[in-house]
This record gives sequence, C-alpha cells and structure tokens, in this order.
Amino acid sequence: MRLCVLTGAGMSAESGIPTFRDAQTGLWARFKPGDLASPEAYQRDPALVWGWYRWRAAKVAAAQPNAGHRILAALQAQHDVHIVTQNVDNLHERAGSKHVTHLHGEIMKSRCFVCGHYQTPDAILHDIEQLTEEQHEAPPNCQRCDGSMRPDVVWFGEALPDEAWQAAVQAVDAADEVWVIGTSNLVQPAAQLPVMALHAGKTVVEINPEPTPLTPYVHQHLAMRASEGVQQLVDQQ
Ligand code: NAD
Ligand code: ZN
Repeated sequence: MRLCVLTGAGMSAESGIPTFRDAQTGLWARFKPGDLASPEAYQRDPALVWGWYRWRAAKVAAAQPNAGHRILAALQAQHDVHIVTQNVDNLHERAGSKHVTHLHGEIMKSRCFVCGHYQTPDAILHDIEQLTEEQHEAPPNCQRCDGSMRPDVVWFGEALPDEAWQAAVQAVDAADEVWVIGTSNLVQPAAQLPVMALHAGKTVVEINPEPTPLTPYVHQHLAMRASEGVQQLVDQQ
C-alpha cells in the first residue's frame, strides 16, 4: 500500500514539544506570534528571534521520538510511506522515517536572510546541548554576503517552499490511503492536502483527540493521542 501521512504539532506533543494552539501548553499562549515568527519581527529584533529559535531547537535536540514516530517508521517495512509534516522538528527522521517532506521548513537548520546561503557547520546548532534557557543572541553573519542568518522555517506571511509543496501534492496524489495526525487543519495551504485526498476519493483517516474542521468529512476519526491512534490503525490492518 502507498500511504501518505500528514502530520502536525500534535504528532510531537507526546515527545514533550508544545503545539501552537493547545490553550494551556501551546507556544502561542505564552508568546505573540507577530513578535517572533515573521520577517518583520526578525528585522525589528533579530537577537530576540534568533535566540528564541535557538532555544526551541535546543528543546528538539533534547526530545526523543515517541512511540507514534517509531510505529510510522516501522511501517516502511511493509508499505511505501511518505510523511508530509508541518512540523519543523526532526523527530520523524530520528525515528527512522526515510521519506519526509517538511512543508514549513526545519528548525535545526538556518540560512542567510539575504542570499539564502546554507553553511556548515550550521550556526543554529552551535553548542545547542549547553543551551538551557532562552536568551537574546545576535544571529551570526553569512560567510558569503555578510547578511544575517535566520532559522530555515516558514514564517507568517511567507510562502511554502515550492519543492516541498509539489512533493506533498504528489504524495497525496500517489497515495492509496491518507492518515492525518495531530493537526488542527487550520493552517493553509497545508489544510488543503486532506481535502484534495477526499476529492480524489482516497480513504482519509484522522487521529486527533479533538475534532477539527476536517473531522466531519473523514472516513474514520480516532479521538486519541497520536501514538495510540497509529497503533490502532496498524492493529486493524
Ligand atoms: P496546531 O498547534 O495548530 O494543532 C495541533 C493539533 O494537535 C490540535 O488539533 C490538537 O488537538 C492536536 N493534538 C494535541 N495533542 C495531540 C496528541 N498527543 N496526539 C494527536 N494530536 C494531538 O498545529 P499544526 O496543525 O501543526 O499547525 C500549526 C503550525 O505549528 C505549523 O505551521 C507547524 O509548523 C507549527 N508547529 C510545529 C511544531 C513542531 O515542529 N513540533 C510545534 C508547534 C508548532
Ligand atoms: Zn548571504
């Protein structure tokens, strides 16, 4: 079977990485997105934004893939599995998933704000294990053009990387079945992908403890955590 798995922040919640929209623990409950996750915010206060992303990258580095990530990776032994994630963490890859498309970029990488250059070693990971709290930190300069480095994530007001979007559309198109896990289905255009799958007549299964705008249309909604949901889907195969 060709399986396309669409994942959002809820996929990583059991690894201790907060989602954006969960009222009590979500990141936006404590920070205003406009202050941190936009090109304007970065230009206004690069040290605040770079320091905040470095701290979040440190949290990802310290987190471990959860049972849900591991079960999805194990599924590759029987099926052709393409994961399309809105997550900027690398937990799918660290669990062993080989085919992962990042719609919203990757927090463990940085690129030049001006010329887009990536450099090695990546400065966003510098001494990341030692970083235990949030701090203001001026972003380093690009070795090619001297511009400032920025996290390689998609910010509010920015377009998705075209290559990733095309890969995601193709993954949905090629799939026999689509699983939608831990996303509020509110962020566009990512939320279009399960809708495309439904229009194309694919079987769409959703795993989310809460209902979302997609829930009334899916073939099956498992109101449970990601790890329990994927285990149930594997058991029922
Ligand atoms: P979201 O915060 O909007 O929604 C998270 C969803 O996960 C909610 O519907 C919630 O009910 C569900 N959820 C919570 N705990 C769950 C669990 N244990 N198992 C399954 N589902 C659970 O996140 P989103 O839909 O991914 O979209 C928001 C944006 O947040 C994306 O752009 C994404 O890049 C970004 N983000 C990424 C990370 C990460 O990389 N881990 C973390 C936070 C936010
Ligand atoms: Zn540059």
